[in-house]
Amino acid sequence: MTKGKGAQKVYAIKEAFYTLQGEGFHSGRPAVFLRFSGCNLWSGLEKDRETAICKFCDTDFWGIDGQNGGKYTAGDLVKMLESLWPADGEENTRFVVCTGGEPMLQLDEPLIDLLHGARFEIALETNGTLKVPESVDWICVSPKAGTEVQQKEGDELKLVYPQKGISPESVAHWNFTHLFLQPMDGGQTEKNTRACLEYCLKNPRWKLSLQTHKTLGIP
Ligand code: SF4
Repeated sequence: MTKGKGAQKVYAIKEAFYTLQGEGFHSGRPAVFLRFSGCNLWSGLEKDRETAICKFCDTDFWGIDGQNGGKYTAGDLVKMLESLWPADGEENTRFVVCTGGEPMLQLDEPLIDLLHGARFEIALETNGTLKVPESVDWICVSPKAGTEVQQKEGDELKLVYPQKGISPESVAHWNFTHLFLQPMDGGQTEKNTRACLEYCLKNPRWKLSLQTHKTLGIP
């Protein structure tokens, strides 16, 4: 990403928008979503889905052509994100959800520092295959079968269920404050929701996460 000596790093952003967090612990909370381009478990192209490590992705993270997408320096990126937050007084904390794709391919300390300087509380949605800096305020890991997870601690573990090759029992001992099961979307969403519900009732450490943004028809 860095071009030549002294050139500033640029971040490839698919899209950024203001909405409500739809799933997991912060469900219903107003947030700026910052979707980084690219993932290390799938190219994002349909022709590669069958051979990808992660095959059930429901997100378009390829390229930089979405709403407010583009290539940004850290300073310009934070300015753009600030412009999306409503004018609500100088003292209130803003909330940004860094997602993707896999945001840890790009998110780094300089950007984290600038976001904090602009009063953003930073939440991260990651597949956990890359270590996350401790300075991130809210770490949500959604592990995928067949991967080597590096980030086994954080605030929220969100397992898409059922997922061949990874069970709730195999990850429940990791060091997370909140454990969520989220129904696998696609052809069998209703059946999968029932399976999540039943698992949570039998194993009360786990809570149900629903993708409410899909029901609400918001991004
Ligand atoms: S890890 Fe996440 S962003 Fe990457 S392909 Fe899987 S679901 Fe999509």
